[in-house]
Amino acid sequence: MDNKTQLYISDTIIALATPSGIGAIGVIRLSGPDAISLVNEVFEGKDLSIQKSHTIHFGTIRDGDLILDEVLVSIFIGPKSYTKENVVEISTHGSAYIIESIIKLLVRNGARPANPGEFTLRAFLNGQLDLSQAEAVADLIASNSKASHQVAMQQMRGGFSHELQHLRDQLIHFASMIELELDFGEEDVEFANREDLKGLIYQINRILHRLIQSFEQGNVMKNGVPVVIAGKPNVGKSTLLNALLNEERAIVSEIAGTTRDTVEDEMIIGGINFRFIDTAGIRETVDIIEAKGVERTHEKIGQAKLIIYLVDPEQEIGEIEDQVKYLSGLGIPFITVVNKSDVMTPEFEEKVSNIKVQDPGTKNQERKHGVDNQEQTSDLRHPTSDFRPPTTPLYISARNKQGIDVLKNTILQTINLHSINTDDVLISNIRHLEALQKTEASLNSVLENIDNPVTSDFLASDIKQALYYLGEITGQVTTDDLLETIFSKFCIGK
Ligand code: GDP
Repeated sequence: MDNKTQLYISDTIIALATPSGIGAIGVIRLSGPDAISLVNEVFEGKDLSIQKSHTIHFGTIRDGDLILDEVLVSIFIGPKSYTKENVVEISTHGSAYIIESIIKLLVRNGARPANPGEFTLRAFLNGQLDLSQAEAVADLIASNSKASHQVAMQQMRGGFSHELQHLRDQLIHFASMIELELDFGEEDVEFANREDLKGLIYQINRILHRLIQSFEQGNVMKNGVPVVIAGKPNVGKSTLLNALLNEERAIVSEIAGTTRDTVEDEMIIGGINFRFIDTAGIRETVDIIEAKGVERTHEKIGQAKLIIYLVDPEQEIGEIEDQVKYLSGLGIPFITVVNKSDVMTPEFEEKVSNIKVQDPGTKNQERKHGVDNQEQTSDLRHPTSDFRPPTTPLYISARNKQGIDVLKNTILQTINLHSINTDDVLISNIRHLEALQKTEASLNSVLENIDNPVTSDFLASDIKQALYYLGEITGQVTTDDLLETIFSKFCIGK
């Protein structure tokens, strides 16, 4: 973060930092100028006011003569703390009664119950973290897989904040040079070398483009990879989902078309969170309720990173061929999976194995030529897809749980998130994506006006716009609304 000076916030906040409910221990956290003195008043064991920072002390918390608990008190003297204020953490036995009694006692003595995310908000306001790092704290707490942990950790450690800060500094330099030119008005002076400025913008745009592109990947790492399981009713979609999830969740039934709505289930395969979406099948139907389901299927397919097209040996080969052709045209990787291989005839196997999938990778290569950056967004779907989905079907028996591991491996290889370098800077937050896109648009506008001497004022204001949007990400530019939106999503105590 830049040299933001620490704010003086006069009140001291308190909250339970561990989950509520019974645990081995509970940690109550206080932050603010009176954190140490407030705890010292009710603590018996040592005088906490004369202890060094980063020390832990054993003693009792008393409400008058009543001993509430034996506790460990950790002391962090500002600015060497999470919030840069004085912070005390009281580790108590994990009884809801003890925790509540201690918090009530300290509130009676002058502490204020913290709002959601208020500790992290203070850390941000005091310059300990920038805004994107503060947001990463929330992501880190919410991370439930190796991949989501990795993106959050990298963002919290400031990976991409540093990159943006550097760009911002360079732009600020140019903005001030151009402002200076404007001050000279009629005189034909040029402080900001246009070629240098262009060079800088090209350089920045390359970085912006890479960050914007990384969103697809960062987002699926954070929120999970949506995978649609599509296929006619009764081919075994629910059974497959159950086999993948290894539990009986979606309803399995003998009647065609009973999976009317889309069901989402999450599971972690190879450290990556997948969201499997079971659908009503891609078949035209006259049934109104099911027609709605089909509409949703198409919607869901559009969002998918991968389609598993499930067929069974009852189906006409021609129909499968048609669907494969249709799915090939979507530009989304898909895997054709033949279910019920236990009842498949050799004739069916022979015919179905001859259905070749058009490689969606090749299609994208073709599309790439001669298009500008804007249109390349369609390629973002599989940013690192060196691996091509198999062009011939996989055979499984969902009911007998055969071929499920091979399918899981193929899914992982097709998604290909494994090739991510841990040092890669990824963005995973839609707010950041939007700000980066707006920055890029402003800079493109700078490029348009750059060679036109009449439009110097536009130049300055476009650069300022770009600076504004970049600043929004890291928090040099904030509004109360923005802070409210971000921090209200935090849990209390964080
Ligand atoms: P959905 O409509 O596509 O979701 O299909 P379901 O999962 O409800 O399955 C339809 C029927 O196919 C059920 O009776 C399943 O038991 C049966 N089924 C599913 N997988 C297999 C399999 O691998 N082999 C056989 N023989 N039957 C299966």
